[in-house]
Amino acid sequence: MDQSAAVYGLKTLKVQGFKVSTSLFIALGAVVGALLGSTASALAYRIPVGMNVTFARSECPSCHGKIAAYDNIPILSYLVLKGRCRSCHERISVSYIVLESSMSLLYATLLPLYRFGYVQIGIYLAVFIAVTGAVVDLKIRRIPNKLTYVGLLGELVLVLGRSIRSHSLAPLEHALLALIIFGGFLFVVALATKGMGLGDAKLMGVISLALSSFGLYFIFYVFLGSFALASVVGISLIVSGRASRKSAIPFGPFITLSFLLALFIPKL
Ligand SMILES: [Zn+2]
Repeated sequence: MDQSAAVYGLKTLKVQGFKVSTSLFIALGAVVGALLGSTASALAYRIPVGMNVTFARSECPSCHGKIAAYDNIPILSYLVLKGRCRSCHERISVSYIVLESSMSLLYATLLPLYRFGYVQIGIYLAVFIAVTGAVVDLKIRRIPNKLTYVGLLGELVLVLGRSIRSHSLAPLEHALLALIIFGGFLFVVALATKGMGLGDAKLMGVISLALSSFGLYFIFYVFLGSFALASVVGISLIVSGRASRKSAIPFGPFITLSFLLALFIPKL
């Protein structure tokens, strides 16, 4: 390649670079998000009934027939099958396609914003754990350890990676401090009261680790935000007569919602 071609090539790459890579990240986010949404749906169905969460093939909840791989493509299969099982024609819960398309949309928005790195992978992992945890919490009023432990472990490994790469203990120290302050606070609240579960504390721990590089203040806003959202929704439910002051409202979904909203706040 002669010199002018190389320069020209570089120029075109620069001119088109932004658009090409942005749409690439959106497409990648949409696909990855749909797959994660499908995994989240499977976990939200399997964990509450105590099914094997790892290698079991998907099956129809009505006829228990195994679902073929070509009928298990996120979003598309639901549309092709018009929301019914291929063998027994029973309706497939609309929650599958809702979760798959929301996760697809979420990751398609997040990937171009955050792109790749240790911190970013940590955020994508925390989003998956938080959304799946919120869905399970709404179903069974509990966030399973299987989810939060995977989240805590994964986040710690990523933080350790950042510390090793930067030859500094600072990322690890900040992360552990965030975990102890926010996860620890909810842990104490959970032990002292019945309104909060230990699962909520562990979920807050996962999110604190994931956001630790943005500073303690930023996590504090997420923390306060979850209580603010829970109060607003709780009061509205009581005022509208759909809940009494003694109703237990799961807290996990509010932690998740506050976390997701915070991801779209510009960070300094
Ligand atoms: Zn079926």
